[in-house]
Amino acid sequence: MVYRGPYKVRVEEKDVPSIEHPNDAIVRVTLAAICGSDLHLYHGMIPDTRVGHTFGHEFIGVVEEVGPSVRSLKPGDRVMVPFNIFCGSCFFCARGLYSNCHNVNPNATAIGGIYGYSHTCGGYDGGQAEYVRVPFADVGPSVIPEWMDDEDAVLLTDAVPTGYFGAQLGDIAEGDVVVVFGAGPVGLFAAKSAWLMGAGRVIVVDHLEYRLEVARTFAHAETCNFTEYDDIVVHMKRITDHLGADVAIDAVGAEADGNLLQHLAGAKFKLQGGSPVALNWAIDAVRKGGTVSVVGAYGPIFSAVKFGDALNKGLTLRMNQCPVKRQWPRLFEHVRNGYLKPSDIVTHRIPLDDIAEGYYMFSAKLDDCVKPLVVPNGQ
Ligand SMILES: [Zn+2]
Ligand SMILES: [Zn+2]
Repeated sequence: MVYRGPYKVRVEEKDVPSIEHPNDAIVRVTLAAICGSDLHLYHGMIPDTRVGHTFGHEFIGVVEEVGPSVRSLKPGDRVMVPFNIFCGSCFFCARGLYSNCHNVNPNATAIGGIYGYSHTCGGYDGGQAEYVRVPFADVGPSVIPEWMDDEDAVLLTDAVPTGYFGAQLGDIAEGDVVVVFGAGPVGLFAAKSAWLMGAGRVIVVDHLEYRLEVARTFAHAETCNFTEYDDIVVHMKRITDHLGADVAIDAVGAEADGNLLQHLAGAKFKLQGGSPVALNWAIDAVRKGGTVSVVGAYGPIFSAVKFGDALNKGLTLRMNQCPVKRQWPRLFEHVRNGYLKPSDIVTHRIPLDDIAEGYYMFSAKLDDCVKPLVVPNGQ
């Protein structure tokens, strides 16, 4: 697929990518996914998203060809590829901060490389395609364990680790009350992970009733539809002994609904790096001394965040793009032991040829879509 401008994507023939560096691999994509954060690109929210760019940072495939220095992969290997592109050896990679790699993105210092996520994130073409070039092939991808399903593996390239990371950043203690803003895939996995980390109560907030239903059945969470309350923060206080939650997780990011002025300033007029409604709710809904974890995506320019309230309440704010590969060993165990079944949230399987309709459906929240996968032609 290629981007043609806001709200416009289509299928086009492109050259099959070739090895450009000795540590590249070419991967034939067998399964990809569309992510909520792809919608920020689709809506034209991410700076320097160029016409002709191919999206897709969640994909798995089969190694087609490797460069001469690649040691850990060989043609024919079935591989999963983290959404982060990282070198594995810089100051930041050495500290496990793979999403902050200093060597992979000449266009920005704040963020590393991400497949199919604009030139702001390095300009690497993504995996909603038949083939993709994978740089640092010895560092990023892993061979998929034989026992793992393709659909579980593709969800482990972003949605599951990002949700798990959101819960990790919350520093959840035994019995904590955890509120998760956003019942998309990341929010659902954050809620599920909160239980694994010892939460005593997990509450998921959204406005899409079909997603709240998944939060109840898949993540076993209490749910709260914010459109049913005049003030969601007051309601949160009421159901938490008037103290607030111990931990709040923002799994929404830059295109939050729920406040018209913020939405116009962020999503529509690009006057801020997104509409931080969910983040401000998180700051308000957490108790004094609590922790706010942010894994929803925000743009580079400032956002109108209630920083003074966060300061005066003594909150701990933690955030980052998830360093996916760091999460894999434990998540593989959780999937293998049956604690997590990522593919349970997959609702749609879209042929690559129909991806334009897929984006439209996902963006317009039609057909109770939670997580759409993309199946390349002929699979
Ligand atoms: Zn994603
Ligand atoms: Zn690095």
